[in-house]
Amino acid sequence: MSYVALFVTFINDIRINRCKSEQIEMKKYFLLLFFFLSTFLNAQTEWKKENLKCPVCRHEQYYYVPVHNVVTIDIEAQYQLVFFPFTQHQSVFACTKCKYSALMDDFFNVDTNFVKKIEDIDISGLAVGRFKSYLDMDVTDRLLIAEKIYKNKDLDDEFWCRFYRICAYQFEREDYDREAEEYREKALELSQKMLIDRSYSEGREKEFLLISGSMFYFLNEPDSAYTYVREASMRTYTGNSRKVENVRAKENLLTRVSQQFAVHLRKEKLEYYSK
Ligand SMILES: [Zn+2]
Repeated sequence: MSYVALFVTFINDIRINRCKSEQIEMKKYFLLLFFFLSTFLNAQTEWKKENLKCPVCRHEQYYYVPVHNVVTIDIEAQYQLVFFPFTQHQSVFACTKCKYSALMDDFFNVDTNFVKKIEDIDISGLAVGRFKSYLDMDVTDRLLIAEKIYKNKDLDDEFWCRFYRICAYQFEREDYDREAEEYREKALELSQKMLIDRSYSEGREKEFLLISGSMFYFLNEPDSAYTYVREASMRTYTGNSRKVENVRAKENLLTRVSQQFAVHLRKEKLEYYSK
């Protein structure tokens, strides 16, 4: 059914249905319709195609770049601190010719020396075949190639913690649950390491507590998850000199997510013990 037809049906329903219970149903229907239409329209406008050159082999092809920032509506992604565009598979760039892959924010950030290094990295068995667009390559293959490439760069624990959370999120979406679990175990280990390392955690405990709690939750350890998330929700994020960022915006975001997550976990806990 077309969107116009759906909307006409909705208007007709308003005229016909007058009793209170029906009005409540209509409200639900309207919200559902609004959500559906806005999601559809967003999907049409959030990415645009750009013809760009691969920094390794100079092959030219289309890459999808976000037109504007989109609010992440997937609550489970928010709990893992994975946000748009990394909730979408378009954000993992790959060259269809040489298969070089990386997250879109650092795909083009390679110097000549590193290009030589990339050419020696063994990616056999991944993204095998010819592809018209990088979107035709499995996002899990793109991430596995990116992981091999990143291992040849000098990247810190914070990078890896974020990268593993993105991998866990994308692998789970593709039903690779065991791999998602392994990535979350790695992200958890790193968040715990950063939590006790003052150079990372001074002023930023709230963030690492929340990540730890989130990883515990998705690894089916709800009691530990609740302890960490609740603690995170009570802390204040003040940032530190290691990271340049909008501290107030980050504090607002972490407070919103951790409070919502704590309520969710408490509700799950109460439901479990009332059974
Ligand atoms: Zn290439």
